[in-house]
Amino acid sequence: MPLTHPYQDLTGGQWLCGNLHAHTTRSDGEREPQAVVDDYAGRGHGFLMISDHDIFTSPDDHATLDAGDLLLIPGNEVTRNGPHMLHVGADRLVEPHGPRQLVIDAINQSQGFCVAAHPNWQEAFDHCPLASLREWQGYLGIEVYNGVISRLQGSPYATNKWDMLLASGRRLWGFAHDDSHAAQGDTGLGWNTVYVTDNSAAGVVDALQHGRFYPSTGVMINSIQVDGTRIRITTDNARRIIALSDLGRRFHTADNATIECDVPDDATYVRFECWGDGETFAWTQPFFVDR
Ligand SMILES: [Zn+2]
Ligand SMILES: [Zn+2]
Repeated sequence: MPLTHPYQDLTGGQWLCGNLHAHTTRSDGEREPQAVVDDYAGRGHGFLMISDHDIFTSPDDHATLDAGDLLLIPGNEVTRNGPHMLHVGADRLVEPHGPRQLVIDAINQSQGFCVAAHPNWQEAFDHCPLASLREWQGYLGIEVYNGVISRLQGSPYATNKWDMLLASGRRLWGFAHDDSHAAQGDTGLGWNTVYVTDNSAAGVVDALQHGRFYPSTGVMINSIQVDGTRIRITTDNARRIIALSDLGRRFHTADNATIECDVPDDATYVRFECWGDGETFAWTQPFFVDR
């Protein structure tokens, strides 16, 4: 039972971290685009997507900003008429059709990819029902962490929905994003650390599409090694690493910055949660068992 996973070839490039979900005064964010760019650049991020609600931030808009070395990724958050979806690496605004499958299809017919946003935002209603996530085809992943939900009704985490989808055979990547709106306190909560060989916005989008990244809220993964069905993960600062299989079943725990274990015979996928100090995590993407 060989494993399919996105970390097969981590050579010749570098790790860059960045956030794909940030609002500005062009929609309901409190800060001008330049102030948002300056904040993320000052945190040492390598890339950023401004994701205003139904407002496309294009390469032409980027040209009006001073981003320094921060790679700016074009996109927006499809918002009107239904569950919110990030259009990452967009070349245009797609129509916000009520049936979200039409939005996903339009995104896939244009440039970029679709990520389901804040799956456990529960204010007034479930903003991204599991039934919809099961029904939709063609989105690349979901936010397993959305920072702004930390101060709203619901849970910032959505690993529960991720496991239910993965256990049903779906191959979806997990993302961690700020969804920053406020001038203070919303920034630097969650990001994706991406292995990039082409140091450009297009290179980041390509690496994300292939899953060559891990979402994080503060734990740094140093190495991911796979030998047959044996997996070894080393981190800088995890206190505990949990190995999980179908529907979130925990099959191995290491109270350590490193874990090494074998994939259980009955697993269809495994993934790892690296828990750090306070409320910090890194989540690996799934390793899928091919049968
Ligand atoms: Zn949203
Ligand atoms: Zn948002």
